[in-house]
Amino acid sequence: MLIEQVVHARVLGGAGPQSLHLDGGRMVDGSTRPSAGGACLDANGRLVLPAFVDAHVHLDKAFLLDAAGSCAPTLDAAIRGVGELRGSVPLRDLAKNAERAVDLLVRNGVTAARVHVEIDPAVGLDLVNLHQELAARFVDRLELQLVAFPQRGFDLPRMQEMTAQAMAEGMAVVGGAPYVDADPRRHLEIVFALAEKYGAPLDLHFDFSDDPHCSLIRLLAERVCALGMQGRVTIGHVTTLAAMPVIDQAHAFELLARAGIALVVLPATDLYLGGHGEPGTRSLAPLERARAAGVHAAIANNNILNPFAPFGNGNLLQAAWLAAITRRANDPNVRRLFLEAITTEPAAILGIREHGPKVGACAHLAIVDAVRAEEVVAMAPPVLATIRSGRLVHSLSGLGLS
Ligand SMILES: [Zn+2]
Repeated sequence: MLIEQVVHARVLGGAGPQSLHLDGGRMVDGSTRPSAGGACLDANGRLVLPAFVDAHVHLDKAFLLDAAGSCAPTLDAAIRGVGELRGSVPLRDLAKNAERAVDLLVRNGVTAARVHVEIDPAVGLDLVNLHQELAARFVDRLELQLVAFPQRGFDLPRMQEMTAQAMAEGMAVVGGAPYVDADPRRHLEIVFALAEKYGAPLDLHFDFSDDPHCSLIRLLAERVCALGMQGRVTIGHVTTLAAMPVIDQAHAFELLARAGIALVVLPATDLYLGGHGEPGTRSLAPLERARAAGVHAAIANNNILNPFAPFGNGNLLQAAWLAAITRRANDPNVRRLFLEAITTEPAAILGIREHGPKVGACAHLAIVDAVRAEEVVAMAPPVLATIRSGRLVHSLSGLGLS
């Protein structure tokens, strides 16, 4: 349903409830006459935010918890557990699970997501085809930006060729996970070569360890600068940052900022699988310090109910809430960074044009059951409505429509 006006809406930094005007998928001022008729939505004085953007999610292993059975809470066990399922869980079941995950994201206010799609010898490019079909079918509700992701690395047969083929077939981003291969440096060489060949950005699962001594941040930053790829590389997890002394952390952030490398933290997985060291850490990279150093930083879902994250519901507000607790974000100004980490920051990482309740921006909006900005990350309130390109794609009953 097309929306032309949202009334009684509060916006961040606004004085009080106001009317928002939409036309042709964009926010306009009240003097613009809508080019097509649309409905009026009553926000009942609740906050209207830029819609949420999930910078890192896996749809092809969502809801595999039962199939995987009991699995130890370690990265190796999770990779092995899900890897063993590849080729045995029917594609139609994976498709059904992925659709359920998409639906959850939309109902949680997400209008765009970067999706890591597994390339694996057991399934070839089947999951690539599955996601391309999904992206086309759901384009009105959720924009999917697809990453070719060699989850089990290039030591397995034909992985390099298959990942290249996935890129040739239209995947938008080259993925990787250097830590899964015996030689992480070779892994990096391969993914950089693919990124160069296809002119694509890179998004790596990176430094997922409790041991800061195995960090590859310096190597990566130097390579990004040498190849002129500043602003085109994103790294996820990076739990080594949580285990580093603060002075080393500051140096690492300096390297990331200089190389324009963005950071994505994945609280449900990072906290569940990480932090096994002695002494234990909270195993979540300090994204507020990353921002202070000038690094783009987002919070994302990663996984929904599988051995990588047996807890989760596709709710980015809840992920931000969990991250804020873990980082002891007691300052409202810092908590605001956690809200940006699920809205404007991931949008910048995905290269999405400005969106939100601001004249001239794309009309991708999330209405949440909160009235003050300070409540959003603190409460993780329910999402009352999701609007994508001016269309209502989710609403809870109780919101007035006319
Ligand atoms: Zn991931």
